Amino acid sequence: MDFLTKKKVENNGEIPQYYVEDHPPIIDKEIWEAVQLEMERRRAFAEKHQIQKIDYASVDHPFAGRIICGNSGKAYGKKVWNSTDKNLRRVVWRCNSKYKIKGKLDYGSRHIDDKLLYSHLLTLSM
Ligand SMILES: [Zn+2]
Repeated sequence: MDFLTKKKVENNGEIPQYYVEDHPPIIDKEIWEAVQLEMERRRAFAEKHQIQKIDYASVDHPFAGRIICGNSGKAYGKKVWNSTDKNLRRVVWRCNSKYKIKGKLDYGSRHIDDKLLYSHLLTLSM
């Protein structure tokens, strides 16, 4: 069984990926190569800024992993404030490591209102 030519591709190490040569492609080779370049660009960006994870955003959580704390280099996470009172409830984004790193509190990092993020996103895409 040697009809597949497997070429190993550089990855972050989590998932092995292959571009299969002698097979009808699901996506264009150009697009696939562009994706590899983009992944490499993000990996290099994360390394340069000492960010551990920047790429787990989804349709439901478009900001997940995209807001990076300037103090600790960790991703911001979604938090709900006053979740018991509907009128006071606020959704904010805050550094995930704000209260986690012992002896090195993230005093400078600030929360961001979820509505503000969405309004900025809509402004940018118009
Ligand atoms: Zn932080």
